[in-house]
Amino acid sequence: MSVKPKLTSTSLERPVLTTGADRLLAGGRLTIDLDALVDNWKSLDARSRPGRAAAVVKADAYGCGIAQIVPALTAAGCENFFVALPEEGLRVRHAAPRARIFVLNGLFDDAAPAFTDADLIPVLGSDHEIAIWAKHGRRKPCAIHVDTGMNRLGLMPDEAIGFAGTAKSVRPVFLMSHLACADTPSSDKNRQQLESFQKVRAAFGDIESSFANSAGIFLGLDYIFDLTRPGIALYGGEAVGGTANPMKPVVTAETRIVQIRRTAKGETAGYGATMTLDGDTRIAVCSTGYADGYPRSASGSGVPLRTALAEGAHGFIAGRRVPVLGRVTMDLTSFDVTEVPEDEISIGDHIELFGPNIALDDVARAAGTIGYELLTGLGKRYHRRYIGGEALR
Ligand SMILES: *Cc1c(COP(=O)(O)O)cnc(C)c1O
Repeated sequence: MSVKPKLTSTSLERPVLTTGADRLLAGGRLTIDLDALVDNWKSLDARSRPGRAAAVVKADAYGCGIAQIVPALTAAGCENFFVALPEEGLRVRHAAPRARIFVLNGLFDDAAPAFTDADLIPVLGSDHEIAIWAKHGRRKPCAIHVDTGMNRLGLMPDEAIGFAGTAKSVRPVFLMSHLACADTPSSDKNRQQLESFQKVRAAFGDIESSFANSAGIFLGLDYIFDLTRPGIALYGGEAVGGTANPMKPVVTAETRIVQIRRTAKGETAGYGATMTLDGDTRIAVCSTGYADGYPRSASGSGVPLRTALAEGAHGFIAGRRVPVLGRVTMDLTSFDVTEVPEDEISIGDHIELFGPNIALDDVARAAGTIGYELLTGLGKRYHRRYIGGEALR
């Protein structure tokens, strides 16, 4: 039988915009819900009053796809985007011709012409970068990053105040800083950074300013300023640990069952024979693995890859949570489906890796990481489909 490459129109599901590997040829699928994304942005925008919410779309919109995410947010009223790299800025410019686009990761001399050509706004964080923009950008707008406690990027507060008081070689229209501990509301560091930022801001006079990432939005009105910079919360991730996540899940990752095996007591499963089975076990062997960004550190319980947590991750099928069994491998992951009645599970079915039933952040915790890393590490082999986003069509 020959397989035609474009099968999406014959799909019984409702793919809207489709990219990547074909549905029937891929090992797993990603469903990205543009309506949930837009609802999340609107609720963060509402929490950002009297300011507005921008959208952080670096790392290909946290793995969700700049080409789809940016038009959906633009249609919802988002006018400001943040990326890490100028290359990402060009892709956002293509998707949003009129948006303001800020590039966070500084400015190299050889990249400056791309900024001026595409009207990207560099976020300048050192005298060196300010000098580059003075040479290339002339009077084009730029943003100033002040480091109030990250020791990562930005002018130190004293330098920023000094710069504010001099005749400027560049035209800063925007001042920003970044919180180190926003996801820990009880940390004293938040207030210290806020006070430092307020001082710098006073030295700049009336300038548009931005301080809060997703978690910062939840610290209260003092942290809002003119523009907030949510990333992870847009995509449904947990902004503040240890509290109920108010965001809607945006990304559902599913893997496909290749084989269902029955094993007897005393047998082992997987690389390293790390898992010895204690009874009649049914194993669903599924065709995604760490090459798809499902972390090896999410391997099943009793697998000595992880010391902090004994339990591995879970998938979800037929109304049940099913534990990962043995080691996650490059292309395959096994789940213990012994508890799932035989007539409710078949070869070719999908097991949810994360989504509405298994929280992204629960899988991340089981793997000793954070939801950000899971999303930005999503592999290229998934079949991707976008649902919702009616406003785009
Ligand atoms: C990545 C980033 C954000 C977004 O952070 P989230 O925690 O994902 O909301 C905001 N500001 C800066 C400077 C960033 O680097």
